[in-house]
Amino acid sequence: MTLTEKILARAAGKTRVQAGDNVWVKADVLMTHDVCGPGTIGVFKREFGKDAKVWDRNKVVIIPDHYIFTSDSKSNRNVDILRDFVREQNIPYFYDVIDDPNGHWVFDPSKGKLQRQYGSNYAGVCHTALPAKGHTRPGEILFGTDSHTCMAGAFNEFATGIGNTDAGFVLGTGKLLLKVPETMHFQLEGGLQPGVMAKDIILHCIGEIGFDGATYRAMQFDGQGVANLTMDDRMTIANMAIEAGGKNGIFEFDSQTQAYVDYRCKLNGTKNSYEPIARDKDEKFVYEITVNLSKLEPTVACHPDPGQRKLARELGHIQLDRAYIGSCTGGKTSDFLEFARVLRGKRVTIDTFGVPATPEIVHDLQTTRWGQETVWEILVRTGVQMTENAGCAACLGGPVDTFGRMNSPMKCISATNRNFPGRMGHKESQVFLASPMTVAASALTGKITDPREYLSSSENPKSG
Ligand code: SF4
Repeated sequence: MTLTEKILARAAGKTRVQAGDNVWVKADVLMTHDVCGPGTIGVFKREFGKDAKVWDRNKVVIIPDHYIFTSDSKSNRNVDILRDFVREQNIPYFYDVIDDPNGHWVFDPSKGKLQRQYGSNYAGVCHTALPAKGHTRPGEILFGTDSHTCMAGAFNEFATGIGNTDAGFVLGTGKLLLKVPETMHFQLEGGLQPGVMAKDIILHCIGEIGFDGATYRAMQFDGQGVANLTMDDRMTIANMAIEAGGKNGIFEFDSQTQAYVDYRCKLNGTKNSYEPIARDKDEKFVYEITVNLSKLEPTVACHPDPGQRKLARELGHIQLDRAYIGSCTGGKTSDFLEFARVLRGKRVTIDTFGVPATPEIVHDLQTTRWGQETVWEILVRTGVQMTENAGCAACLGGPVDTFGRMNSPMKCISATNRNFPGRMGHKESQVFLASPMTVAASALTGKITDPREYLSSSENPKSG
């Protein structure tokens, strides 16, 4: 069996499953957020009764992150619905925007869009917050009401996005009927060259198979090259399995996985026992490819879908209006460090927005020094508009007052994960997906630019 089949077999209480089987699997964690949470709660109450209790309050994780820092009252109301539900159900893992369990978030104009407008429990973008808060464990089943839930496959678990109806059912029963997906095999060999990032790996892979090339399939990433990838890198890759239509993305378990998971579970006091899944000798794949990481170059997915692969060096004719770094995929500390490596000591020439995925990442950037300055100060000095209000922001457009949203037709290069028409705001805008380094180099020139032209320093910043 493949990694995915082995996890699903275990969660179904069977010794074997194969692609195409329909099996009932037990959920280890159900995550929801402010966009889909209210709908999920509505389904749960309608089907199980208004006084029903969730199947296991310790396995439900609720993370408001999408439409948070906005004056839009309907968006604010969504977070209030989550807060009411958490109080009613006594759910421990709720990462509220505010500290008062009976309060309401209100935009504070004196702080504007750049200064922090959240309390001490807020966790930021759900997929980045889940591992950081100790909710991702090898061998487990994670369901989330968001398509990029597949990011947690980086941790050797089966993680997939589900709709509100399925999530309402999981809330009530703790299980779900799943068809076992076929598995596609991406064997990674070698290591990345300077200026090339994990984002380039996944953009390359999606370019190979097209934006629907993995529809309802597992994408398994393994091989000797995985050892050269950090957990952040693996998260970037697994996150975008859905951009090829994948049911899930999954990595092997190794000492890096163990160190990350053990540290985060201990730090947060979450469940710290788990059983990783190892590879079998008799795996059956529906597709196989070997990717030599050392041969990859900075890659871009052009408008209008993530499968429109080109090399950054081929796209110097595309003039840009905007650059954006952020999201679960591209807003991690390591992403901002590589972004800063290209920008340091220079000045952006187009509007450039920076949105860290979580408050913890804001803290990292504000305490990690590079020479005399913090990484945050370096980015602000180069002209990047950095907000402390970690969250999804303009990654999926959002209400018109969302930080970084494109409210008119523009061309934007972005470290995010999705570029279908209208994704970041105006429906005639165009989004070009790229690595944080390629976004940085393009922000300097105002056109799509290969970041290898701007790599001067191999010096590294120091954590505060
Ligand atoms: S950052 Fe973007 S892709 Fe990630 S959860 Fe938010 S909207 Fe979705």
